[in-house]
Amino acid sequence: MPQLLIATENLGKLKEFQEIFGDSVTCLATSDPKLARKQPVHVVEDGETYFENALKKALAYHRGFRAPVLADDSGIEVDVLGGAPGVFSARFGGEEIPWPDRWKLLLSKMAPFSKEAWTARFRCVLCFYDGQGVPVFFEGTTEGIIQEQAKGKHGFGYDPLFYSPTLKKTFAEATPTEKHRLSHRAVACREFLQWFRSTQA
Ligand code: IMP
Repeated sequence: MPQLLIATENLGKLKEFQEIFGDSVTCLATSDPKLARKQPVHVVEDGETYFENALKKALAYHRGFRAPVLADDSGIEVDVLGGAPGVFSARFGGEEIPWPDRWKLLLSKMAPFSKEAWTARFRCVLCFYDGQGVPVFFEGTTEGIIQEQAKGKHGFGYDPLFYSPTLKKTFAEATPTEKHRLSHRAVACREFLQWFRSTQA
């Protein structure tokens, strides 16, 4: 089974990647004993686009570990806010604020707008780099509606506010299997897998 280093220190994200890939790919954490860190990895995610940040992470982790890397950048785009917070989702309201405060801030910015229009989407951009070819990108989105009240205990980040009309529940109320049927990350990972398999044939 191919092994890929996932360019993240976020164990929640790493777990999602492994659940999505199942038996097709082994996702390695930066702490995996099979890997030797050749250089410290420090990435400032200050790009203007998801593509820039994903590329920055893929190159930095590849430089640090000399292993095939899959990096992602993702965010939530709220239509009445012109697509914000988007690429700034992780830092919305400041890097260190607790999630309930970040949810409150988002809801306060949306409050002037009719709830009928509280549509949003998650977007994920993946960058694969193995040091041989050029970096390759994959993208996935999933549509939803922002809820006034956070609901559910699964997932992470903005999941409790994100209602999926397809699942008829928030991403945090959905089981991991349900979320991975249609999440932005799962869509991008499936695109990646299709391409990756074609390169191994
Ligand atoms: P990054 O991709 O690690 O930079 O994270 C982007 C931001 O979007 C983080 O604040 C995440 O919590 C949020 N985000 C990305 N994907 C998801 C998701 O699947 N559920 C909830 N929040 C997400």
